[in-house]
Amino acid sequence: MKPIPVTIWNGAATHQPARVIPCSTVENVRDAIRRARADGLLLSVLGGGHDWAGRAIRPGGLVVDLRAMRDVQVEGDTAIVSGGATAADLIAAAAPTGQVAATGTVGAVGMTGMTLGGGYGPLCGAAGLSLDNLLGAEIVLADGRVVTTDAQHEPELFWALRGGGGNFGVVTSMRLRLHPFTTVLAGSVLFPFGQARDVLGRYAELARTAPDALTMHLGVVSIPDNPPVVFVNPTWCGDDDEGLHWVARIEALGAPIMSRVERVPYAEPLRRNDQLFAADGRRYFIRTRNLSALTRDAVSALVTAGEARTSPLSTISIHHFHGTATRVAISDTAFGYRGEHFMVELIASWPTGDGTEHRRWADEAAELLRPHALPGGYPNLLGPEHSDQIADAYGPNTGRLLAAKAAYDPDGVFTATPLPPKHA
Ligand SMILES: Cc1cc2nc3c(=O)[nH]c(=O)nc-3n(C[C@H](O)[C@H](O)[C@H](O)COP(=O)(O)OP(=O)(O)OC[C@H]3O[C@@H](n4cnc5c(N)ncnc54)[C@H](O)[C@@H]3O)c2cc1C
Repeated sequence: MKPIPVTIWNGAATHQPARVIPCSTVENVRDAIRRARADGLLLSVLGGGHDWAGRAIRPGGLVVDLRAMRDVQVEGDTAIVSGGATAADLIAAAAPTGQVAATGTVGAVGMTGMTLGGGYGPLCGAAGLSLDNLLGAEIVLADGRVVTTDAQHEPELFWALRGGGGNFGVVTSMRLRLHPFTTVLAGSVLFPFGQARDVLGRYAELARTAPDALTMHLGVVSIPDNPPVVFVNPTWCGDDDEGLHWVARIEALGAPIMSRVERVPYAEPLRRNDQLFAADGRRYFIRTRNLSALTRDAVSALVTAGEARTSPLSTISIHHFHGTATRVAISDTAFGYRGEHFMVELIASWPTGDGTEHRRWADEAAELLRPHALPGGYPNLLGPEHSDQIADAYGPNTGRLLAAKAAYDPDGVFTATPLPPKHA
């Protein structure tokens, strides 16, 4: 069979499927699953196309392509989000109703792919992970059954979907809780990279006292034609007076070269990040580590990793998991770790070639962070070869998650973010 070219976010993911089935209805999805099984083809699901490892496409397999299923409807304080809708689609539909949703930091990322694995974002402190806002889902299972699941219906499936990734079926729609505001205080405070050690050290103190209304995303990035900077991007969803007091504290972390934090529509910073991480053919390789604290040694490792970057396109990105996200009991969802932590992304990026040295940078940076890191990591970002982290990614939820997988997808038709092996 002739391969079908499909382009996804990561230009380094060049493997191609044998068949792509564009789906716009639940019936289309059922047919596609039936066809893959009848023809003995490996199956994968393509939503927003942002999985860096390219798992939405399996080489020589059949792709259930949801890119046309992007409708979002709002009913009261709930959004009904179709399986291929992006964060930007959701925010655009919610805004006219005076509401917002807990998304990630980038508008073009698929809302379902992200939510099924977690969903760290600007409202993590105020509203939890995206998956903490999942109220129910419609899913097509491997045997073709269409199931509506929530806390009352098929509760074990609903539990597994909140963290277990796309390993259970094709989610054709999700019901997501909305929150009653549309604007936030948000923006960037930039420091020269030379101040990184002090800024990150003081940031660790500040983060400890950050209220739920404040979630800070930070890291190391190069602005084109300029030396690298440490960025701290706050999102504040309370009163301006109190928020501006926190912005002043962020500015006092060092001597900023730029500070621009203002009241903006929630969609605005997502749009800016879309530009930073545009799907323009650039190549990527990502490692991730969870740090329970930004200790002096952990900060040192991060600074060394920042200094050692081999490409100006490579970035370090750190998400603060705190507040509401930490108050969900570990057994309430399949997500594997609920203690406060910093989720670090080591994002190697380069324009052309196989990027061996840049991949090596991310691997070496991950090694530097390992002694300071929690076991496991964020499943949405773990590559298939990171088996030591995969084994621990679901912590005490591992056995229950694997039991749900055996119950709902006994033939292993669906593979998405990696699940731990049975003996872990
Ligand atoms: C630029 C960028 C920014 C990111 N920012 C964040 C962030 O701020 N916070 C965060 O937590 N994560 C973030 N991520 C990680 C992101 O959450 C994951 O890569 C996620 O899997 C992307 O989902 P997708 O639908 O876009 O990707 P796809 O590649 O289309 O799908 C990813 C996986 O999800 C499965 N899947 C997708 N849709 C469905 C569905 N409807 N039913 C069943 N399975 C499905 C697929 O099988 C596939 O394995 C980011 C990634 C990138 C590349």
